[in-house]
Amino acid sequence: MRQSLKNTQRLVIKVGTSSLIHSNGTINLSAIDELSFVLTDLKNKGKEVILVSSGAIGVGMHQLNLTKRPTSIPEQQAVAAVGQAALMNIYAQRFMSYSQQTAQILLTRDVIEYPESRKNVINTLEQLLDMGIIPIINENDTVAIDELEHSTKFGDNDQLSAIVAQLTKAELLIMLSDIDGFYSENPANNPEALLYNHIQEITEETMAQATGPGSTFGTGGMSSKLKAAQRVFEIDSSMVLANGKQPKIIFDILNGAEIGTLFKKGGK
Ligand code: ADP
Repeated sequence: MRQSLKNTQRLVIKVGTSSLIHSNGTINLSAIDELSFVLTDLKNKGKEVILVSSGAIGVGMHQLNLTKRPTSIPEQQAVAAVGQAALMNIYAQRFMSYSQQTAQILLTRDVIEYPESRKNVINTLEQLLDMGIIPIINENDTVAIDELEHSTKFGDNDQLSAIVAQLTKAELLIMLSDIDGFYSENPANNPEALLYNHIQEITEETMAQATGPGSTFGTGGMSSKLKAAQRVFEIDSSMVLANGKQPKIIFDILNGAEIGTLFKKGGK
C-alpha cells in the first residue's frame, strides 16, 4: 500500500504554524530552509509540488514584536498582512538559494465556489506547475471574514489544503503537524494511545477519537484533519499525516516508509 506512494506525480504539502514558528515565537528558519530544499529536490525529480503554508499571523507577530496574539479581527488581519509578505519573502529567498521560483496564491472560499473564478484558480495553478514553479498558497486572511450570510473563510488550512488537492486532482496530500500521526485517542490525554498506520474510512467512531486543541472552536485540531482526509477520499487520493519537525520526512513518505498515518481507501 505504501509502495504506491513512490509513484506520486502531483502532491500538496500542508505545513502548520507549529512547524514554522518556534515555541518562543521566533521563526524556525531551519524548518523553512529544509522544506525549500526538499520541495525543490522533488520538483527537480519531475514531481509537481504545491505548498499550502500557514504562519502569516505568527510571522507578523514576530515582525511587530507582539508577544500576545491580538484579539480583534482588524488587528489580526493587519498582523496577517504584515506577516504574509514577510513569510513569502523568507520562502522566496530560501527557495531561490536552490534556484527554485515560487509564486504566491491567496484564496478565499467565495473564489473557489464561484465557477468562473474557480476555473481561473485551476488554470493559474496548472500554468504555474507547467512552468516548473512551486505555488505557495494560503487563505487570504487579510480579507476573509466569517459572517453567517457571507462566509469567505475556508475554516482552516487543513480544509484549504484538501480543497487545493481536489482542485488540482493531486494524488497525495502530505499534512505536516506537531504529532506523529493519528492515534486511537489524543496522546496528550493518554500516552498509551496507539498510532494508526492506515485508516481506510472515516467513520463516526474515527471522528470520536479526535479531541483536544482546535476542535472546541470547530477549526484546526485533529477533527479538521479527518475532515480533510474525507475530502481526499472523495477524489480517491491519499493523505499522509506526519510530524513536520523535520521536513525531510517527506522523502521517506514518498519512498514508501511506514511513517505517520496513511489515509487511503482499500485494503493492504
Ligand atoms: P497543527 O497545528 O499541526 O495543524 P493541530 O493542533 O491542529 O496541529 O492538531 C494536532 C493535535 O491534535 C495534536 O497535537 C493532538 O494534541 C491533537 N489530537 C487530538 N486527537 C488526536 C488523535 N486521536 N491523534 C493524534 N492527535 C490528536
